[in-house]
Amino acid sequence: MDDRQFRTAMGKFATGVTVITTDVEGDVHGMTANAFMSVSLSPKLVVISIGENARILEKIKQSKTFSVNILAADQQELSMIFAGQIKEHREVVFDRLDGKPVLAGAVAQIACEVSAVHVEGDHTLFIGKVTDIHLEDAEPLIFYSGRYRALTEEKTLV
Ligand code: FAD
Repeated sequence: MDDRQFRTAMGKFATGVTVITTDVEGDVHGMTANAFMSVSLSPKLVVISIGENARILEKIKQSKTFSVNILAADQQELSMIFAGQIKEHREVVFDRLDGKPVLAGAVAQIACEVSAVHVEGDHTLFIGKVTDIHLEDAEPLIFYSGRYRALTEEKTLV
């Protein structure tokens, strides 16, 4: 098994797209991530996985807080900005939820305080205790097999 085969297999898991945001002394930093999962209902915990070379890693360690912004279908450009896929600097305005930076128009904004940190291989897992949530009624952006997509139809089982 080589790296490419592993990446291809992991890309077969269709996900939403999030932008993780944090701020250190008012300086906001964001990063696109799809390694996000709900962990526990009581207490309410989520997990994100950040690569060892990502600049946001040290920032979350410092701030001990982060927000998860689940992007809407019309926010692909934001995903590309925060993944470095759009190179030139774009001015992004951030709202606040529980004092933490969030992106307006996201399907869900989830404000978190870091409750545990686990280094696993070349990634760091941050467990976040959820401190506040804001929801919008919008369709999500989807990522599958390395490409952005949108939901097309609702399948019913009966
Ligand atoms: P930087 O390279 O420092 O920043 C990324 C980009 O965001 C830069 O272009 C920067 O200009 C811009 N930016 C940052 N803050 C601001 C701001 N305040 N205003 C305007 N622009 C700003 N990597 C992971 O580690 N984990 C994942 O789960 C993950 N999932 C991904 C899912 C998808 C769909 C994609 C496309 C990428 C994913 N990545 C993931 C890769 C990751 O998004 C990139 O490697 C990212 O560029 C690394 O982030 P960084 O903190 O080093 O950010």
